[in-house]
Amino acid sequence: MEEVAMKIVELTKYFEIGRGLKIFGGKSTYLKAVDHVTFNVRNREIMALVGESGCGKTTIGFLIVRLEDPTSGHILFEQGDIATLKKKELKSFRRNVQMIFQDPYSSLNPRLTVMQTVAEPLINHKMVVTADEARENVAMALEDVGLVPVDEYIERFPHELSGGERQRVAIARALAVRPKFIVADEPVSMLDVSIRAGVMRLMLDLRDKYGIPFLFITHDLASARFMADRIAVMYLGKIVELAGSDEVISNPRHPYTKALLRAVPVGDPNRERVPLPIKGEIPSAIDIPTGCRFHPRCPWAEDICKQAEPELKEYREDHLAACHFAVEGKERVE
Ligand code: SF4
Repeated sequence: MEEVAMKIVELTKYFEIGRGLKIFGGKSTYLKAVDHVTFNVRNREIMALVGESGCGKTTIGFLIVRLEDPTSGHILFEQGDIATLKKKELKSFRRNVQMIFQDPYSSLNPRLTVMQTVAEPLINHKMVVTADEARENVAMALEDVGLVPVDEYIERFPHELSGGERQRVAIARALAVRPKFIVADEPVSMLDVSIRAGVMRLMLDLRDKYGIPFLFITHDLASARFMADRIAVMYLGKIVELAGSDEVISNPRHPYTKALLRAVPVGDPNRERVPLPIKGEIPSAIDIPTGCRFHPRCPWAEDICKQAEPELKEYREDHLAACHFAVEGKERVE
């Protein structure tokens, strides 16, 4: 468990959104979606990236599967750096690192049957040659994701499946090529509440069976706690807290994590929850506040918070937080 499967080092993605005219001294404007983020995912681990929409978590997923190119930083996986792979090398890499998308309604091609959908990556990566081989591999993948009896599903089109069944097909497609790492981007958020737990349990079973590490991206701390071994909380392009799931839930150190926890029924359902007085909306990633980027909303901000950006540091073993007052005894009064 301790060995690292993937190491993300100072990963950064700035999107250029406006270019001033150079002759007038105009400067480009950037949206800083991911700003020098460092963390790792251990072998057999499910690591959750949690945060509000716009915090940069999905961009990190896209950078890992190289749907986006990083501005700078490293994604160290196996023997190489994903961040610097050239087009040619990307093909074999894509087999090893698979992504499950949020929307099972748009991630499947409506014109392909389940058989064709799951067989397509096997054929593209030359993992099967004959139709019989393809069918055998597809059947195994469908069994793995609980779409049984296989004969009942294999010739269906996406519109003949429920949302949960479609997401299972998407998982089977990712699994069929025997990946070594999976990025799951909000994989249950578009499903009915009644079927979410089943799909999450399926992913946990697959991790246990195949030992594949997952990066599980979600806005929902309750799902993160259910799924993940560790949780990284993101705010405005940075990780502000990172620890084991139970530790984050029972002993949050960052005011933003505390606010998220107060807003959702995670942990002890009998504990009275008084929402934290967080002010306003998440600021724009184009105009990031100085110092601690959370300070305009933080109920405990002091002068130092406007001037100095707190580092993400270990304040206790395996628990990191980016707040000047994260250390126990120094935290602000609630
Ligand atoms: Fe709040 Fe200051 Fe901590 Fe930032 S550093 S979270 S503003 S107390």
